[in-house]
Amino acid sequence: MGVMGGTFDPIHHGHLVAASEVQSWFDLDEVIFVPTGAPWQKADREVSDAEHRYLMTVIATAANPRFTVSRVDIDRDGPTFTIDTLRDLQTRLPDADLYFITGADALGNIFTWRDAPELFELARFVGCTRPGYELDEEMLADIPSERVTLVEIPALAISSTDCRQRKQRGEPVWYLVPDGVVQYIAKHDLYPAEPTS
Ligand code: ATP
Ligand code: MG
Repeated sequence: MGVMGGTFDPIHHGHLVAASEVQSWFDLDEVIFVPTGAPWQKADREVSDAEHRYLMTVIATAANPRFTVSRVDIDRDGPTFTIDTLRDLQTRLPDADLYFITGADALGNIFTWRDAPELFELARFVGCTRPGYELDEEMLADIPSERVTLVEIPALAISSTDCRQRKQRGEPVWYLVPDGVVQYIAKHDLYPAEPTS
């Protein structure tokens, strides 16, 4: 099982390509997308309502029979820590081998994550290349090498931050996010233009 954690505010094609590449690379039965509850690294900015982020993730993944979405993080109170995500998923899927999928930026931060040593017992980590972020081997030196794999994926210089800013500036997000997500954002007026003062 792949586990793709993220804020998904909004979900975009960079997330979907990473999940699809890792699914195929490791021949995974399924990739579970797990939208975060309150992301502790992002306490400094307004994150969209969890239900919006959850529904955009469902819309974006609906057509892929190997993609599913889990509510474990959004239904747990308090900030989301990956250690809790993995513990909850392991309880629900005791026989599964978990592969936690991250981009190079997130993998680089892993030692600031809570309970890092236990993380590597609960799951293997798959770091995907991401334009604009270098992964130097030194950062990975403390990670048990049999528990982490780096995978080169087609480069998509897309971020949720850029998608939000585009909407706020009145610019398109077509083809950066799935069509249904473009329509969902418009329907609910997410990321409205900031009033000019
Ligand atoms: P934000 O700009 O709000 O931080 P983001 O685009 O980084 O959003 P997240 O929800 O923070 O998206 O990321 C979830 C996971 O997806 C992280 O592990 C991140 O590294 C990875 N990821 C996001 N965008 C890409 C991309 N374009 N290529 C590869 N991995 C990505
Ligand atoms: Mg991010």
